[in-house]
Amino acid sequence: MLYIVLGVITTVFAVVGIAMFAIGVRRMVRTLGLGRPIEAARKGPFGRRLTNTLVETLGHTRMLKWRWIGVAHWFVMVSFPALVFTVAEAHGEVWDPHFHLPLIHDWTVYGLLIEVIAGVSLAAITALAVYRQVKGARRLGRASRFANSRHWTAYYVEGYIFALLACIFLIRGFKVAMGDFPFPVWATPISHAVGAVLPPSEPALALVAAFKLIISWLFFMALALVLTMGIGWHRFTAPVNIYFKRTTDGTPALGAAKPMVGNDGTPLDFEEADPDEDPFGVGKIEDFTWKGLLDFTTCTECGRCQSQCPAWNTGKPLSPKKLVMDLREHAYAKAPYLLQGITAETLAEKPDESHAGVDVLALLERPLVGTEEENGVIHPDVLWSCTNCGACVEQCPVDIEHIDHILDMRRYQVMIESSFPSEANTLLKNLENKGNPWGMSEERRLDWIGELDFEVPVVEDKLPEGTEYLFWVGCAGALEDRAKKTTKAIAELLHIAGVKFAVLGGMEACSGDPARRLGMEYVFQMLAQQNVETLNEAGVTRIVASCPHCFNTLGNEYPQLGGEYEVVHHSQLLARLVEEGRLTPVQPIEENITYHDPCFLGRHNKVYTPPRDIMAQVPGITTVEMHRHKERGFCCGAGGARMWMEERIGKRINTERVDEALTTDPDTVSTACPFCQVMLGDAINEKKSRGEAKETLEVVDVSQLLLRSVKGEAAPAGAPAAENA
Ligand code: SF4
Ligand code: SF4
Repeated sequence: MLYIVLGVITTVFAVVGIAMFAIGVRRMVRTLGLGRPIEAARKGPFGRRLTNTLVETLGHTRMLKWRWIGVAHWFVMVSFPALVFTVAEAHGEVWDPHFHLPLIHDWTVYGLLIEVIAGVSLAAITALAVYRQVKGARRLGRASRFANSRHWTAYYVEGYIFALLACIFLIRGFKVAMGDFPFPVWATPISHAVGAVLPPSEPALALVAAFKLIISWLFFMALALVLTMGIGWHRFTAPVNIYFKRTTDGTPALGAAKPMVGNDGTPLDFEEADPDEDPFGVGKIEDFTWKGLLDFTTCTECGRCQSQCPAWNTGKPLSPKKLVMDLREHAYAKAPYLLQGITAETLAEKPDESHAGVDVLALLERPLVGTEEENGVIHPDVLWSCTNCGACVEQCPVDIEHIDHILDMRRYQVMIESSFPSEANTLLKNLENKGNPWGMSEERRLDWIGELDFEVPVVEDKLPEGTEYLFWVGCAGALEDRAKKTTKAIAELLHIAGVKFAVLGGMEACSGDPARRLGMEYVFQMLAQQNVETLNEAGVTRIVASCPHCFNTLGNEYPQLGGEYEVVHHSQLLARLVEEGRLTPVQPIEENITYHDPCFLGRHNKVYTPPRDIMAQVPGITTVEMHRHKERGFCCGAGGARMWMEERIGKRINTERVDEALTTDPDTVSTACPFCQVMLGDAINEKKSRGEAKETLEVVDVSQLLLRSVKGEAAPAGAPAAENA
């Protein structure tokens, strides 16, 4: 009789749990359905996407970057499906104490497997909960990656999993105590240890049943409540999110910016596009695609993105995690009304309709981007603090595409609302009228050539016969004094190595990167189309770019506009020339040098080794890595068009980076990007003016170091290395 009662109760729990879970899934699917269709490019190829998803999910490739936490999380992940067998067995036993799973119930391998998975998972979930305490926001404040997370949901999930695993060992222990356990001690030591301290008598049967009841209850209520309530969702949504990510080679959505697409998911034709008909960025939550909404609901609130964000780490209001959570909460709040067809217009027709005290009109009309007074979901200071550095996207274990969402919101603000930091106005005017951010005349792009003692061919119409590379100089490289030194060093090295190259001179316009990253797609399209036309007419096929932003735009974004070129960064080409013996560094440079990874070279394009290889080939150089380097490198603060905006909140990002560089006691800071060179140079000059950095400390490009060594020039005493290039 007892078993029938318990069986009925557990079955009721199971049915209610499954029903609630199904309702939750339906609600979630309908909420996602409010989003726009995804880009056509995300729909295939099936095989490659599936392989990436399996590798990333089962192999935990992204989580394992976080070492023991990744291993612990892997066990917790597999415990869920693996222990379903145990739960199924418990359900059967509640009805019939002699119930066994067919085939495997007394198979030692099965007994061992459950013991190992449950045992390690129990230790893992305990360790993760302790870690959350130790690294929690209460102790570390803003420095904690858990700052902004909702802790109770995490502890709730962890508590459920802990209780479930503990119950498994208690049930097994009771079976041991009753002498009804088919597995040997060596395969199930924990179960036998638990059994040794439990009573071996008949009343234990009732306790066994009770625990079976508890385990069933835990399992199904966990399904019903936890998994449909918040971060527990990622167990189901993460693989789908990974499958539909923007890239198909397994890497995160970095490199090219997300293209603007029309309502049918194909690239928007700006000649025909109509802001009233076509999506011009995102102005309200339902303007995101369903993949965007899936991103928001998949967030585990782990805070890895936040911990790496340069904006957050320098006291700005932007936290990529908080941004995703805020968008999710807003989507969840608005969805029930949108799903009922309630809009601001329908409310105007029935103003008295009750909505349980919720000001639905205010909710529906809430601006996505706006100040506190405007009741905005995302504050403009949050939106404009992003440098597009990609640290968040790189770290996110479930492939959330923060930059795409930030860019989409910026696009709407810039192109529809004309609302953006006023300093960016000058940038846009200069780009439109002069084709460069500084508003200089196009003839000035040739100034640096006059400072060299050899001829540099300038393309007039067609690329000169026999040209190996078109040298894309970039606006900074042609017009900014510090970056011009890098340009001249690269040209000289190519000349020494006998590489036949040419430049576009005045025909080169800005690649469009700052306009695109600001959200002004019109100006990007205008500049990019002009450049693609020039390059195609000149017959260019191979390009060496000195600026990582140009390198990224030309190589990854111009194909979207019909510009297909083989693009290399100068550090890649120079490293190869050294390897081939066409450049030979001879002069030792006895300096302690730390290298700063430019975000658009490193994280966005995975070029980490060539600049380091160059320095390794120069005799005398001692390189010291900063704490944050390579994938976890820290931005200089210039990306995302931030170079042309004031940085009014918190510590300056370039100062933070230079502070970190100074901890390595460098003689020189090297990099491979003109923007980084300028930003870090400015911060170092400020430090020098306050006596906080040695007078000889300079920022140089790796090409300048290489040239100095190849030409056999020693640095004059006390003179910075850059002066030699
Ligand atoms: S791209 Fe960089 S600055 Fe922007 S949110 Fe991500 S980590 Fe922060
Ligand atoms: S966005 Fe990704 S990295 Fe950031 S908290 Fe969410 S799951 Fe973690």
